[in-house]
Amino acid sequence: MPRTNSKKITKVIPYSRQTIDQTDIEAVESVLRSDFLTQGPVTPLFEERIAHFCRSNFAVSFNSATSALHAACLALGVGKGDIVWTTAISFVASANCAALCGAEVDFVDVDPKTINMSVEALEEKLQSAERMGCLPKVLIPVHFAGNPVNMESLVKLKAKYGFQVIEDASHALGAKRGNELVGSCKHSEITVFSFHAVKVITSGEGGMAVTNDPELSNKLRLICTHGVTRDPTSMQVKDRGAWYYEQSSIGFNYRMSEIHAALGMSQMDKIDTFTKLRNAAAAKYDEFLTGIDVTPLSIDPGNLSSRHLFIIRFDTPLDEKQYEWIFSAMRAENILVNHHYIPIYRHPYYQRKGSQTNCTEAEKYFMNALSLPLFPAISEEEVYRSANSLKTAVKTCLR
Ligand SMILES: *Cc1c(COP(=O)(O)O)cnc(C)c1O
Repeated sequence: MPRTNSKKITKVIPYSRQTIDQTDIEAVESVLRSDFLTQGPVTPLFEERIAHFCRSNFAVSFNSATSALHAACLALGVGKGDIVWTTAISFVASANCAALCGAEVDFVDVDPKTINMSVEALEEKLQSAERMGCLPKVLIPVHFAGNPVNMESLVKLKAKYGFQVIEDASHALGAKRGNELVGSCKHSEITVFSFHAVKVITSGEGGMAVTNDPELSNKLRLICTHGVTRDPTSMQVKDRGAWYYEQSSIGFNYRMSEIHAALGMSQMDKIDTFTKLRNAAAAKYDEFLTGIDVTPLSIDPGNLSSRHLFIIRFDTPLDEKQYEWIFSAMRAENILVNHHYIPIYRHPYYQRKGSQTNCTEAEKYFMNALSLPLFPAISEEEVYRSANSLKTAVKTCLR
């Protein structure tokens, strides 16, 4: 067992943090010294790099995954009167992207072991939606905590019920299901990654949408830049001259800057190392968490998880007071545990919109899940301290 000393006890262990080295700093610095801070040569290189890495045909960069998800919904034609389903347990952006298009959003219950969208719950919900004539146009599964969703089963339902799929892979760059990398878009229209500071790699803020469909790629790019094109082949008016540009649809300024792309590009050199370090730290947790009644999330056999989050569930259901007590006790020791996530339909916004959804497994998970610190540079001693702090808090609280 690693030893701790009293001085280090007070050191803050965040639930996650970025890993930045000298090469990252130099990559950003070189952009700052260059001619372009935006719409320069680095962003297309970063796009190519991500597309090549996850073996998809096209990649379009965005200033966040939230923007990319919004653009993905718009590119698939989501609008007022449409229905979009996502998973009950995720970050709110997985649902907001569709709500922003004016669509009605509903939520599918999770699998109790992995907390990925439950394929059984999805099938049941589809059957009843078909009877009531309210099938979803788009489904947004989330590769929760970095463990890829069972896309083979999901795609059978996709074929049967005719919805389109956006994979929210904000947690899952570099994750694999068998030999299939998340982002290959083999079973989906579009996959979205996040490069927020705590995600698998970071560009500061940033996101990327990947697809194999050239038409969707064009649409994503238009939505990203005001609906304006300088590409003569996609213009309505032909042969107008080199000066001419055209707004063919409506869009946003959702662009990624060169500064962000340079950091993302440099971080991509380390993705395999990061994934290995995260998995090694997770294995240490498994070792140190023996003798305590908590269960980490399951990873499907054959999956490589990117281990964005390390989440445990308490085997004995806690009430809110007990949960708060354990959470605060660990935070008081500077172990900055976190909660991922409140069922999205519980938020006041979705309640006001009249969400009637109440998912059994998502509800069980809600007061029962705790994210322990996990990031590439976490030391064995820090993992030990976090695990030990949890043990002590649980023992004291449930005594
Ligand atoms: C982080 C996250 C997002 C949003 O990513 P940003 O890049 O911060 O906009 C969306 N979905 C999930 C599941 C996330 O964890």
